[in-house]
Amino acid sequence: MSKIVFFSIPAHGHTNPTIPIVAELVNRGHQVWYYSFQEFQGKIVDTGAVFIACDEFLPKASQKELDRKVGKDFAALIEMAADTTMALDEKVCRELQEIQPDCIVSDSICFWGKLFAKKLGISYICSTTTFAFNQHTAKLMKRSFSEIWRMIRGMPRINIKIQELKRHGYEVESFVSLIQNDNETDTIVYTAKEFQPMADTFSNRYAFVGPSIRQSLPVQNVKKDRKVVYISLGTVLNQNQDFYHTCIKAFANTDYEVVMSVGGKTEISSFGSIPGNFTIKASVDQIAVFQTADIFITHCGMNSVNESLYFGVPMVLFPQHSEQRTVANRVVELGAGIMLKGKKAKDLAAAAAEVLANPIYKENAQKLSETFHRAGGAVKAADVILAKIEKES
Ligand code: UDP
Repeated sequence: MSKIVFFSIPAHGHTNPTIPIVAELVNRGHQVWYYSFQEFQGKIVDTGAVFIACDEFLPKASQKELDRKVGKDFAALIEMAADTTMALDEKVCRELQEIQPDCIVSDSICFWGKLFAKKLGISYICSTTTFAFNQHTAKLMKRSFSEIWRMIRGMPRINIKIQELKRHGYEVESFVSLIQNDNETDTIVYTAKEFQPMADTFSNRYAFVGPSIRQSLPVQNVKKDRKVVYISLGTVLNQNQDFYHTCIKAFANTDYEVVMSVGGKTEISSFGSIPGNFTIKASVDQIAVFQTADIFITHCGMNSVNESLYFGVPMVLFPQHSEQRTVANRVVELGAGIMLKGKKAKDLAAAAAEVLANPIYKENAQKLSETFHRAGGAVKAADVILAKIEKES
């Protein structure tokens, strides 16, 4: 029996793919601890893993501040991650010395997991819920002027944090070593090699396991004689009343059945009387919805796009920042969707009509779906973790 410790950041998109892997490891008789946040306690505990809350160690930030920074101000996020590492330092190092794990699996953005592994000499695997990232793929991320400006302005602050980390016993060569893995680091990526841009620039230490998806029953009450349009802006930057109103305007009382997930912070009552062909919820069982959806209008979060392709659902792409634009561009390149060209109701209606009318988008999504199914998912990811532990024991 092996002992494995997981770390992730407080985000559904970074936590969700790890859950079926943790369940798989526990089912195979291994012991798993998961350093995470109260919001995710339920789904972690359900796997049989030990949940450890890190909430009180996160730097305090208002929702407004987070909305401004997520995906847009990388320097600020690195500062927050460094502060979290130092706040957790005493507790986690003490606990890990008691647990004596065989391996740490940490999200690629959750720098603290990687730093604890290095400091304590514990075997480390990176869990990557975005595209795998190296100096080649970095060129695909076309950052906006304001993102680049924030990064340049933030560099002195990052360097101060790196010095602080060093004083706490963390070896950090450079800021790049924090955000990027080299070809020697074992890395699990939740997409298929066929979808990953420049896949041949990554060594065989990268395991492209495809989406790690929990089992879910298909939605029962959706009428299949109508096309089903699913709309979501994900779980983070999802407060966009204008966009939701435009969706209602575009699809109200049409022949489509529309399912719209608007997030917990959007008042559903603010939409007034909801058209009969709409179901609007704070959150839906997205995996279930994909099993009947014909088209997905998406913010292009990597998990949502992976899940959509896994179920062969073509997309209308509405990316909100540079990482999501990279994902959207790849979908366009592989012909599984189109970019939304304008913000008006008629633009949305036209984009949805085009994706539904031309079978090529569905065909290309289905081709990718086959590669995603072959990639192995959570079972393959568990194999990768256990093979590493066995090799190093
Ligand atoms: N999700 C869900 N129900 C919803 C909206 C989202 O279960 O109503 C899940 C979705 O399946 C995915 C994650 O939340 O696993 C969103 O991750 P993604 O990377 O797409 O976007 P983010 O929320 O990080 O922007």
